[in-house]
Amino acid sequence: MPTHTVTRDDASAPFYDATARGELLLRRCADCPAWAAPRTLTCPSCGGDRLNWQVASGSAALVSWTVVHGRPAADGGEVPQAIAALVESAEGPWLHGRLVGAEPASLAAGLPLSLAFERPGDGEAVPVFRPVD
Ligand SMILES: [Zn+2]
Repeated sequence: MPTHTVTRDDASAPFYDATARGELLLRRCADCPAWAAPRTLTCPSCGGDRLNWQVASGSAALVSWTVVHGRPAADGGEVPQAIAALVESAEGPWLHGRLVGAEPASLAAGLPLSLAFERPGDGEAVPVFRPVD
């Protein structure tokens, strides 16, 4: 199912430079050991504002999900669907992302996930997650 095009701004440029390389970046506090989600501006542990980018392992566990159904095709073909997920990264921060390569009926909280990337032709590479084989 097609999704909207993702474009970068100054704040997200390091994140999308990394996704182009096949890496997922999270924020890491310079003043304590805490990790934070990419959009975070202040440390969730100590409140400090010195957050650096650091490469995440890409391992995650499924927390919650919803199946998003697309518009039925005019020709009566199969209705496209996508799975929007909330995952807990191995480093701790929770992330939103699409789940790929999964059947909704097979999903369960805690399901181990690995990182993958969708690379649309007209936008930034976007991290997605798939069940570990
Ligand atoms: Zn901190």
